[in-house]
Amino acid sequence: MSEAGSTVPFDFSSYGGEIDDLATRGLADAAGAEGIRTAMARVTGRAEEVQASRLSANEQNLIACGPGCADCCRVNVTVLLPEAIAIAAYLEEIGKGDETNAITMRVADTAARVRWMEDDERIRAGVACPFLDGRGWCAIYPVRPLTCRALSSTDPEQCRRALAAHCSDEEETIVVNIFQKFLMEGTFQSLARAMERAGLDTTGRELCRSVTRCLLDPRLADDFLAGKRIKFPES
Ligand code: SF4
Repeated sequence: MSEAGSTVPFDFSSYGGEIDDLATRGLADAAGAEGIRTAMARVTGRAEEVQASRLSANEQNLIACGPGCADCCRVNVTVLLPEAIAIAAYLEEIGKGDETNAITMRVADTAARVRWMEDDERIRAGVACPFLDGRGWCAIYPVRPLTCRALSSTDPEQCRRALAAHCSDEEETIVVNIFQKFLMEGTFQSLARAMERAGLDTTGRELCRSVTRCLLDPRLADDFLAGKRIKFPES
């Protein structure tokens, strides 16, 4: 592995193959939701390890994202089923009884609200991610989706302006760390490729809808691993 901030060009193709193998083996060995969560932890752990090893201290300092800064957590996030299953398993572990029920209701409520909303509409309506806690921290941070991991910004004000611009005709770009974006998006694609080859359901779906479905159906993880196409209610 190269040192942090290495100037040697990163081989995305070989990294993609590595994630593909990791996901293939992890999902083949997985039994139930906990097994899928372990497989996902290996995939995201490797992605985070590569990111940390490739970004120089200077680049890391430039990334302004941090606990409590959650302006971008108001857009629709697409996840693959293993990601949603891992999140549901994590919520069941950290929540207890009534707490898990309350989270399930909050996530289901958001899923219903954003069901037909494009990002622009959701930003205008100000529908925040239900996984944000009272401090604006991500309550599922260790298992957060790859799409969330791909996002970064060097300037929180720029994020706010870009979100506001979504609701008008103005244009505002966000300066992101492009390596992080490509790395996490590439990880998502490699995971999907491994799933497709294994004959698993590769449909990308909205985060809250997917997690709600996983929380409400204890058999879902086994059905997914058995190669069944998971049905979602139409409304
Ligand atoms: S899952 Fe976490 S990081 Fe992703 S949108 Fe929700 S609160 Fe933000």
